[in-house]
Amino acid sequence: MLQAGSHAIVVDPGDAEPVFEALERGQLQLAAILVTHHHADHTGGVAALREATGATVFGPASETIPAPYTPLVQGEHAEALGLRFEVFDIPGHTAGHIAFFLPADTDGVQAPLLFCGDTLFSGGCGRLFEGTPAQMLASLDTLAMLPADTRVCCGHEYTLANLRFARAVEPDNTDLTQYMARCESLRAQDVPTLPSRLGTERLINPFLRTREATVLQAVRAHARLTPDAAETEVFAALRQWKNDFR
Ligand code: ZN
Repeated sequence: MLQAGSHAIVVDPGDAEPVFEALERGQLQLAAILVTHHHADHTGGVAALREATGATVFGPASETIPAPYTPLVQGEHAEALGLRFEVFDIPGHTAGHIAFFLPADTDGVQAPLLFCGDTLFSGGCGRLFEGTPAQMLASLDTLAMLPADTRVCCGHEYTLANLRFARAVEPDNTDLTQYMARCESLRAQDVPTLPSRLGTERLINPFLRTREATVLQAVRAHARLTPDAAETEVFAALRQWKNDFR
């Protein structure tokens, strides 16, 4: 939830109840609901929240959300509370997945801020339920170009499990080792590791690093790819490795 004065914006409310509680606690009015993709754990609370608050709902043009909403595609904007969110098409996890990006500080809201649903996680990326590896790689490339100080608000706190896999891919990455120690200490205190920073993700997240020699070599060896394997093949093999990783 994003707060500006006495109003709030919520992103991907899978459940309405905790949002109602937060609104009540902060004496806030809900102005807008941003939805990144159609999965129930991101949309389950949308209809009830919209009905009770009259909030404007923004979502992906090529997916269906369980409430009337303003459909958006790349290049369009979601505007609420004087904030202007840029929209990116980032298919892969789902076919019509979008991201919302707030480029600059506005009225006490600390930006840049990225809401990327289940596409980019700290240390990992979403599963490919509807899209292709090529689409997911292009989507992650789009997100990776955003400013280094962008705070990455992911759909789920999967950080530690992702980092265990990342370490298997890049055991000698010292940025990764340090980040993992920091995240383990946060989780031990029951503090979220999110939002992450995009600059950090570029250093530690193997799914943003498939062109780095260390990741390339590890994936080639693991999946027995030939040296001339295309980058999409490398990305697909990395994603498969993660799917099978225990
Ligand atoms: Zn999802």
